Amino acid sequence: MAKQIQAIRGMNDCLPTQTPLWQKVEGTVKQVISAYGYNEIRMPIVESTHLFKRAIGEVTDVVEKEMYTFDDRNGDSLTLRPEGTASCVRAGIENGLLYNQEQRLWYMGPMFRHERPQKGRYRQFHQVGVEVFGIDGPDVDAELIMMTARLWRELGINDHVRLELNSIGSLQARAEYRTALIAFLEQHMDVLDEDAKRRMYTNPLRVLDTKNPAIQEILVDAPMLSAYLDPESQQHFTGLCELLDAAGIKYQVNERLVRGLDYYNRTVFEWITDSLGAQGTVCGGGRYDGLVEQLGGKATSSVGFAMGLERLVLLMEALEQDDVRRSVDVYVVTAGEGTLTAGMLLAEKLRNQLPQLRIMSNFGGGNFKKQFKRADNVGAAIALVLGENEIAQNTVVVKDLHGGEQTIMAQDEVAAKLAALI
Ligand code: ATP
Ligand code: MG
Repeated sequence: MAKQIQAIRGMNDCLPTQTPLWQKVEGTVKQVISAYGYNEIRMPIVESTHLFKRAIGEVTDVVEKEMYTFDDRNGDSLTLRPEGTASCVRAGIENGLLYNQEQRLWYMGPMFRHERPQKGRYRQFHQVGVEVFGIDGPDVDAELIMMTARLWRELGINDHVRLELNSIGSLQARAEYRTALIAFLEQHMDVLDEDAKRRMYTNPLRVLDTKNPAIQEILVDAPMLSAYLDPESQQHFTGLCELLDAAGIKYQVNERLVRGLDYYNRTVFEWITDSLGAQGTVCGGGRYDGLVEQLGGKATSSVGFAMGLERLVLLMEALEQDDVRRSVDVYVVTAGEGTLTAGMLLAEKLRNQLPQLRIMSNFGGGNFKKQFKRADNVGAAIALVLGENEIAQNTVVVKDLHGGEQTIMAQDEVAAKLAALI
């Protein structure tokens, strides 16, 4: 036998048993986002490597060690997108969507990061991203958070996620804080690990979200970013908090929340669950007012978030919110000369009348017992049974597969009876 070829580590198939839950999550996300008047944008999966280096920052986990980068046949360096914001901004600038106008956009699709695969962390994963351009907030920052809160309610996970919020201020304020933080870290060189030492001069804020307990301990006395916030950012943040209070959305201000990518300023937030172990961040976002200009456009206020669909699906499974509508409503059972054709034609007619109804035909024959077993396996609620007698009389037997009762009726009347199932 030929050797089997397997999927790439960390890149998963989504199997037919799993897709119904995925479709439910994706459908709910789309419905909630459109309720706010946002429009979908679709970008390529591959971009020029420069884009991510410039947007995300050279000294970030993503660019330093997680990107799938390769040379195209003509020698250009390309990268499988590790996130969507950079591509979205690139597309916005290139197509003239951002200058002097507002855009409320969303996208959904696969992202690629070369990380160590584990529960909730994969090499191909899927994000929904929402990005708003041309509005400086904090009203729109609050709207994005309300949108996510609504989504958690719709998915039935709202009691199991909490919101952490922070303001990381203007670039200027951060530069001043950076100097103070480096000075502090320099006094604790003996405690810092390799990662922290490497980052302290290039990206010292990242040291703040270290997982190393010894460093966490010394950080208790580190200078606080909030003490360096510029008055405008402070006011912006107060405005956001007031809007969230008015909307009844609970949050916790986490002064150590800085997010992993370089482009953020002012608002940053994360929705976190404690039900998935270490990979608990289901959604993260914030403001990135400098990015459009940094990528060659005119300065444009920008804010957005991205959520990981695998983690949402895992959370719904963990909370047993994963009951999804069965994929077949009606199963057509046939037995006897000419009944298969008649059954298929009846199914076609019903699909004309009730496009929402899912009808599956039995193929490959089999006795009634076998056919009812198949109907049961696919979760059908009703079986339509056609034998030679029924065809001769233009009738059909309608069998309730759960209750067991069965009635015989004219074929023309079936649609009205089945309409109740949708
Ligand atoms: P983490 O701290 O978990 O590595 P991150 O800060 O790198 O997350 P973002 O770049 O903000 O994540 O991406 C937004 C969301 O995408 C995350 O909150 C998470 O839900 C999801 N996500 C990120 N990386 C992965 C991955 N490798 N596998 C699955 N989901 C991911
Ligand atoms: Mg990460």
